[in-house]
Amino acid sequence: MIDTVDFYREVLDNLYDGIFFVDKEGMITYWNKGATKLTGYSSADVQGRNYCDIFRPLDKHGKLLCAFDACPIRKVLDSATLTEVEAYICHKEGHLLPISIRIAPVREVGQHFVIAVEIYSGDSPRYVMRQRLEELQEMAMHDPLTGIANRRFVEINITARLEELKRYGFPFAIAFIDVDRFKSINDSHGHAVGDRILKMVSATLANSLRSFDIIGRWGGEEFVILLINVKQSDLLKLSDRFLRLVEKSTLTLDDDRALNATVSIGATLARVGDTAETLIERADKLMYESKRRGRNMVSVEQDQA
Ligand code: GH3
Ligand code: MG
Ligand code: MG
Repeated sequence: MIDTVDFYREVLDNLYDGIFFVDKEGMITYWNKGATKLTGYSSADVQGRNYCDIFRPLDKHGKLLCAFDACPIRKVLDSATLTEVEAYICHKEGHLLPISIRIAPVREVGQHFVIAVEIYSGDSPRYVMRQRLEELQEMAMHDPLTGIANRRFVEINITARLEELKRYGFPFAIAFIDVDRFKSINDSHGHAVGDRILKMVSATLANSLRSFDIIGRWGGEEFVILLINVKQSDLLKLSDRFLRLVEKSTLTLDDDRALNATVSIGATLARVGDTAETLIERADKLMYESKRRGRNMVSVEQDQA
């Protein structure tokens, strides 16, 4: 006779993007293959551990979701109603991952209520970006280490956007982003860990963009983001968000030590009359201004209009 619980587990294992169960204490009791694919954590990594401790879920502003008893799973346990939240969780490789979380109370066969949590990221900008990058790969315009676009793709896009700005007045901005004291990360932990930090930072940045924004690796530990259709007044807020999300990304090393990185950012609106060079140069200067002010900072140019 087929065990009913095993049967449903088998179905769950294969059906959903990511699904897991937690008990009344928030401890993970079941973890499917989709959840492993999405988060990088295997079932053995998470069994019997508290989900909040593993993922440290954040809201879209980078604020901890589970702080001060505001844990969405706790709420479902208390109210027994279905809840949906948008959140960032920490991938095993350290970067933040935008996901939708759907939490439902269910009764396990012959047992008490447990909580089923479904996590999925199918419509996230990162997913859309990945689809776009598949096309990019064919055109050799992606960066092999980080998987985001390369400098050439960014330059081509800046030139196209400048043409649009001149003809139609569609505004856009550039954020120039440089990892702080990256050389010392390489020196202390080795080049391979440096590479993982670059992947983590670029993935968090890519995951925090809207689907139509563009991110590329400019060189070494430098990234450029094209922010489409933004106003001067948006720049500080957007850049500050990038800064906070990178700061909250954590790479766990093999010996369990946690490693973080910060970035310095310079952001400026494109102007009619700019070339790709003048625009990048202005953003780069502003980024250096952030370095000069102590790093982990944003510098935005005052309005020229
Ligand atoms: P600052 O805060 O002033 O930006 O200091 P920094 O150490 O980040 O700046 P610096 O330009 O001195 O060092 C950048 C380092 O990045 C030097 C270079 O060896 C390293 N680097 C460049 N490309 C890669 C890469 O693909 N992988 C790794 N691991 N390191 C890289
Ligand atoms: Mg640099
Ligand atoms: Mg640097």
